[in-house]
Amino acid sequence: MEVTIAQIDNLKAIMTTGSFVTKEPMARHTTFRVGGEADVFVEPTKEEVPAIIEYCRKEEIPVTVIGNGSNLLVGDKGIRGMVLCIGKGMSDVTVEGDVITAGAGALLSKVAAAARDASLTGMEFAAGIPGSLGGAVVMNAGAYGGEMKDILLDVTYLTAEGEIVTVPATELDLSYRHSAIMDMPGSVVLEARIRLEKGDKEAIQAKMSELAAKRVEKQPLNFPSAGSTFKRPEGYFAGKLIEDAGLRGFTMGHAQVSEKHCGFVVNLGGATAAEIRSLMEEVTKRVRENSGVELVPEVRFVGEFE
Ligand SMILES: Cc1cc2nc3c(=O)[nH]c(=O)nc-3n(C[C@H](O)[C@H](O)[C@H](O)COP(=O)(O)OP(=O)(O)OC[C@H]3O[C@@H](n4cnc5c(N)ncnc54)[C@H](O)[C@@H]3O)c2cc1C
Repeated sequence: MEVTIAQIDNLKAIMTTGSFVTKEPMARHTTFRVGGEADVFVEPTKEEVPAIIEYCRKEEIPVTVIGNGSNLLVGDKGIRGMVLCIGKGMSDVTVEGDVITAGAGALLSKVAAAARDASLTGMEFAAGIPGSLGGAVVMNAGAYGGEMKDILLDVTYLTAEGEIVTVPATELDLSYRHSAIMDMPGSVVLEARIRLEKGDKEAIQAKMSELAAKRVEKQPLNFPSAGSTFKRPEGYFAGKLIEDAGLRGFTMGHAQVSEKHCGFVVNLGGATAAEIRSLMEEVTKRVRENSGVELVPEVRFVGEFE
């Protein structure tokens, strides 16, 4: 269903502060640098979100919520309806004692830097994950032995029914790359609070630098990607299974199993979503044949592929 001109005018009237564009290439908003046009793309302030969602519900305009687009594969045909990007307009970070309150659009790097500046330890693991706080809550992002579950105090989100609720992290069923919010389509994370511990600023910075250096050493950061393409199967490493299936550097079109780290699929330049998806399917099939293990995508598929 196309968004009509009248609906676009009404949405523009709701959006007084945030940004609003039509026919926006999603390749500009994903770290894979892939994805066709969104009919409507908005980056709202926190205050604007409830009215936008309410209007879209009333008009039956589908809404796709994204953060920094670092875990997404958007189809080449783009996204019908509205993309609600929780970003700059919702990125305030405040520190009070050992608690950080941040908008869902704040980048993890920004929140981690605020923690370091306040000599708060516990968030170093997240400093190099290129996502927003909202995306990290939904994905229960984690790295180097830490995950959001360890530090989240509570999360404020708009439910699909239009209610704003604050829920303790313990009630969000946070587990490996999963949260209850993932299973509540239409809900929008607005804000989260993180509890950390008093630490030493220099030691915190040293840890962040050490982990950043590890990423540079191990990950193909010179190519667009969405990080680890597949989840870690219990008892295995996806990258090792892919390597053992002889797939290091395996290429389809302009999509490739990274030569540097087999757990990453990279865009060599000009890859389509269809190529990346086909490559992922082929990798899954060959790993299944080689080791009997079923790989499950960590990357989330969004929009129309054909
Ligand atoms: C180079 C690289 C390295 C990476 N390293 C790691 C790593 O070490 N650990 C790790 O866990 N991940 C890693 N990732 C993946 C990614 O950064 C994380 O999954 C991150 O948490 C995604 O956040 P995002 O804001 O980009 O979310 P998006 O990719 O924009 O969205 C991810 C999901 O969250 C939903 N979502 C996002 N924001 C909201 C919101 N405000 N409300 C409701 N739903 C929302 C979307 O609908 C989607 O389902 C890496 C990615 C890259 C490119």
